Amino acid sequence: MIHGTRNYRLPKFYVKVIVITAVLFLLVVLQSLLKDSQPFSRNAFYQRNGEHISETVFKDGVLGNFEPEEKPKKEGPGEYGIAVQLGPDEVKQGSDCVKEWGFNQCASEKISMHREIPDTRPLECKYWHYPTDLPLKASVVIAFHNEMPSTLLRTVHSVIDRSPQHLLEEVVLVDDNSDREQLKKELETYIEQFKGKVRLIRQAEREGLIRTRTNGAKNSKGDVVIFLDAHCEVGYNWLPPLLAPIAKDRSTMTVPIIDGIDADNFKIEPVYQGKKMFAGIFEWGLLYKETEISEREASRHEHYSEPYRSPTHAGGLFAIHRGYFEELGWYDEGLEIWGGEQYELSFKVWQCGGQLLWVPCSHVGHIYKRRSSVHPDVLPEKLVKKGSLVHLNHRRVAETWMDEYKEYLYIREPLMKDVDYGDISKQKALREKLKCKSFKWFMENIAYDVVKDFPILPPNKHFGELRSVGDEPTCFDTGGGFPVKLKVSGCHGWGGNQFFRLNTKGQLGHGERCVFVDHENRLETRDCPKGRVDGPWDLQSDHLFKHKDKGLCAERNKKSELWLKPCDASKKEQLWEFKEIHPS
Ligand code: UDP
Ligand code: MN
Repeated sequence: MIHGTRNYRLPKFYVKVIVITAVLFLLVVLQSLLKDSQPFSRNAFYQRNGEHISETVFKDGVLGNFEPEEKPKKEGPGEYGIAVQLGPDEVKQGSDCVKEWGFNQCASEKISMHREIPDTRPLECKYWHYPTDLPLKASVVIAFHNEMPSTLLRTVHSVIDRSPQHLLEEVVLVDDNSDREQLKKELETYIEQFKGKVRLIRQAEREGLIRTRTNGAKNSKGDVVIFLDAHCEVGYNWLPPLLAPIAKDRSTMTVPIIDGIDADNFKIEPVYQGKKMFAGIFEWGLLYKETEISEREASRHEHYSEPYRSPTHAGGLFAIHRGYFEELGWYDEGLEIWGGEQYELSFKVWQCGGQLLWVPCSHVGHIYKRRSSVHPDVLPEKLVKKGSLVHLNHRRVAETWMDEYKEYLYIREPLMKDVDYGDISKQKALREKLKCKSFKWFMENIAYDVVKDFPILPPNKHFGELRSVGDEPTCFDTGGGFPVKLKVSGCHGWGGNQFFRLNTKGQLGHGERCVFVDHENRLETRDCPKGRVDGPWDLQSDHLFKHKDKGLCAERNKKSELWLKPCDASKKEQLWEFKEIHPS
């Protein structure tokens, strides 16, 4: 009987196990199918597992649920973002304080790792309440190459000190092959205090910040990755406002507002204050610009402190869902070192169905360096030989994403056409696969403010050197400085300062500057006027270079200066011609 019972019970137990396993298996399959079938679904988290995640709400006069408590007043150098006082020896160019890292080491080392900062957020920000059930944790990824240890570590401490711990998975430091001794063992020992919350990844080769960030994202554990530069201090309650919009819609990339930290005295100051909001745009040479948001965008929001749409961003600091970033193919891995990567990601996000929001209630301070980490003398030799890496990057982005609009880049920067940009077939295939929209759609629906400041460019009539006619010609020369009076100097072809473009509407330009005359009628370069692509210049067939509004002509004098004088085609000092450069 006992045996019989046993014989009878055993199979029933196995059946149960089999049924449960099968159900679990089906659930897993179903879940992954659902996930695959809606890679970009908005609200993917909002309604996750049928559970409702609370909304972000504004409660006038009721202090926000993530607002920090009042702390006792602190005293010390740099507290509350006040400038650090330095002795004359500590600020001297070439002194030990400034020569090594691109910002003042003595100032930084006087300041506490836990200093208080000014609250630079708009007033409303204190009254926003964020979901307490955000189903997302962030990995903060910091790429660094030979960065000053104290600023790198203050970045880390500010993140640890000012992030709710349940929303912070980890801080991932990715060393892009630094060679400074201070960033070796000492750094490893220092971060032991964080007990695994701060990890360090070393790269055996210098990859540049773009591939280094991707490497950090691939190797982090959080649902969201937040990138910071290695010289930042995050603001009060910076994290929930960046995560909440992503929790609601995983194809959202969020960008904090950047405050300035002074490279010499570490003073913290907001770049923007008050209710006016600014967004990231670009001019046709792909230089990064910012502009006040339009009424069209502002009117989409009840509160001025709500996140708003921006065509692009400065590049260094933002949050993105890790899985979504992966679906977008991370960054284009052919981008080198620094520059243009923000356009690649912004265009990709917008054109492929996502959105990019600037978040007024999340502020992060950033030190603008005195010396760039991409200066040729700090670049690996194999890359210096490639010529301008930023141009290479811009060209990859333009060729992949900008469709017919790329021609404006080539009008603004004709030499770009000669830049070898390598293979972009993978990028093009991704654009196909994700069925991304056209650049025209992006310009008309998202980046419509660009053309207000930087209208579509008319073609160039001439591009090259503007030379005097005759033997031993001299050339218009910007001298490299800015703002600057124009001069003539011996023509030297390649090298930049002597290349000008004269467009079909009479604008004479060099890079983002245009040639004007000052109140004394002397020629000078200044920023091209916003919203204008026309100008007064005409190179006549008799070689006079005429300012049509004034009815005067450009003349060089013995001091190599350029002035407007009454037109006279018999004076050789007034005769000019273009030596055209024809990029392929
Ligand atoms: N960086 C890097 N590898 C590079 C160049 C830069 O890891 O080849 C790091 C750098 O240390 C910094 C971040 O990338 O943490 C952004 O660089 P940087 O601050 O020079 O850029 P900027 O703020 O001037 O645009
Ligand atoms: Mn930086």
